[in-house]
Amino acid sequence: ASEEFRNFPMVPRVVYGKGSFDTLGDILMPKRKHSEAPMIYLVDDVFENTELINRIPSIFCDQIVLISAEEEPKTGQVDALVKMIQEKFTELPSGIIGIGGGTLLDMAKAVAIMLTNKGSASEYQGWDLVNKQSIYHVGIPTISGTGAEVSRTTVLMGPEKKLGINSDYTTFDQVLLDPDLTKGVPKEQWFYTGMDCYIHCIESLNGTFLNAFSQSYGEKSLELCKEVFLEDILASESREKLMMASWHGGMSIAYSQVGVAHAMSYGLGYVLGVKHGIGNCLVFQYLEEFYPEGVALFNKMLKKHNIELPKGICANLSNTEMDTMITVALGMAPLWENALGEQWKSIITPKKLKTIYQKI
Ligand code: NAD
Ligand code: ZN
Repeated sequence: ASEEFRNFPMVPRVVYGKGSFDTLGDILMPKRKHSEAPMIYLVDDVFENTELINRIPSIFCDQIVLISAEEEPKTGQVDALVKMIQEKFTELPSGIIGIGGGTLLDMAKAVAIMLTNKGSASEYQGWDLVNKQSIYHVGIPTISGTGAEVSRTTVLMGPEKKLGINSDYTTFDQVLLDPDLTKGVPKEQWFYTGMDCYIHCIESLNGTFLNAFSQSYGEKSLELCKEVFLEDILASESREKLMMASWHGGMSIAYSQVGVAHAMSYGLGYVLGVKHGIGNCLVFQYLEEFYPEGVALFNKMLKKHNIELPKGICANLSNTEMDTMITVALGMAPLWENALGEQWKSIITPKKLKTIYQKI
């Protein structure tokens, strides 16, 4: 019975508000072990030569590392960063601060774990394989939707699989939510990452794992998503609301699961490198059978914001690639069970998945 009652960590500290980024220096100060133990800032390289870099409270031997979010994080990349930090500094860092979208947040979580745990990040992909406390780590989102700022996972592409390091040590020790940081996000990206949040809500609220805990967060998040994507509100308000929608969406899936779009998007990501947000959208548009109301609203949102999803993504796949994609998707058992119930294998077959993938 204890399996039913999972004892989840939550982010213990959070700052919220426009301009709150400037409190970072004060937040970090008491966490500094001494002047030789640096704060390492992992920052999306989209901020290179921007004012944000100058606002980073870098002192002593702190280091700012610019990282591209072009591709989703890989275990090899995490290992290389850890090695670089270990070789450059004689002491373990005082903290790791991730500044960016889901890609940079996941990178920061993984580096914080791997600085205290031996071996390669790929050895910890799975559930509760981490056994040592990670380094103090802070998450500062600059685009809203993934919920990576609240989750206890960091999704990594490894040599064998795309899978999260799910552990109690993954969750951030501190999150800083400053809606102004999302100002420069390009419209398409805003939509795709925002839809990740919307799809978290739909998959959580329509899943068999739903409970009052998840529902309370999922309903709030969905309400905020509707305001952001279907109503005409001020841009500043929209940024604030989407940031909180992401937070609640992430909390909603903590105690339930995602569903069909996420399972199939994992397949697209693994075989074609399609990114999480757009991958979810590409799949979700064809899931009216599973989420009729959710897909209808999604179509409205696409139309309102003049978003044209790319076509023909799966057109040139070989049979082997298609099979791999299907195998990866079907491997996400908890997601299917949440979406379709214990008998999911009788509902969803490789053939059915193929039909959906072929439309994408
Ligand atoms: P992202 O971090 O991949 O960034 C997307 C794009 O937006 C990048 O080009 C980036 O440079 C740009 N960008 C970010 N902030 C910007 C800003 N303020 N101004 C201009 N451009 C900006 O996007 P994402 O959708 O947030 O993250 C996707 C990643 O998150 C995937 O790797 C996925 O696996 C992961 N993810 C993790 C979790 C989790 O719980 N850990 C959940 C969902 C997704
Ligand atoms: Zn997601």
